[in-house]
Amino acid sequence: MLVENYKQVMREISLAAERAGRNPADIKLIAVTKTVGVEEVRHAAEMGITDFGENRVQDAEEKVKTLPALNWHFIGHLQSNKARDVLSHYSLIHSLDRNSLAKALQHWAEKAGKKADVLIQVNVSGEESKFGLEPGKLPGFIKQLAGYNRINVKGLMTMAPFVNDPEEARPCFRKLRELRDDNVQEGLDLSELSMGMTNDYIVAVEEGATMVRIGSALFSW
Ligand SMILES: *Cc1c(COP(=O)(O)O)cnc(C)c1O
Repeated sequence: MLVENYKQVMREISLAAERAGRNPADIKLIAVTKTVGVEEVRHAAEMGITDFGENRVQDAEEKVKTLPALNWHFIGHLQSNKARDVLSHYSLIHSLDRNSLAKALQHWAEKAGKKADVLIQVNVSGEESKFGLEPGKLPGFIKQLAGYNRINVKGLMTMAPFVNDPEEARPCFRKLRELRDDNVQEGLDLSELSMGMTNDYIVAVEEGATMVRIGSALFSW
């Protein structure tokens, strides 16, 4: 049952936050709805979930258009030719990882008279298969982004390697937090850390996640 899964996830988030001396209210649950349809999203929203994540523009289209009042997060790899569409339907893009995409976001945000709220996706684990900026390129990229007046960088996002024991993901989350701390510059707010999925969100919260992106723990039963 969704309601039981939801309660369980919220309980785990609270316990992990308390273990780390954090306020559970500082952690936002993003329900990743890529495997479910409009009715389940509606049901989740009625239970009090406010934030939803999708990783493919096309698969999500019906959901984001039917339920436009929800806070939608774009968490997947974003092609520049989809930047316009994503800007108009999503409140936060978690996957900015290159200058060409920044350029497209700047362009369309300016046309729409709005700002693009983004997280920079960092490939902390260094796996070939993962998108994201190399950690060493982060300072230069942040400097580059300062030249885009329509882009608001709110923080960093990463995906940990898929491992059986979530403890093995801990160094990856810790590294993202350290990268954040090292790259905070004057006038830049990098407070958001989007990290942790069903397998590893408890460890991610202990390491400072402010947003956890959870699909299966909510939507399978
Ligand atoms: C699917 C997905 C998630 C959620 O994964 P679960 O293991 O089902 O919790 C989180 N982040 C991204 C980027 C995803 O694509």
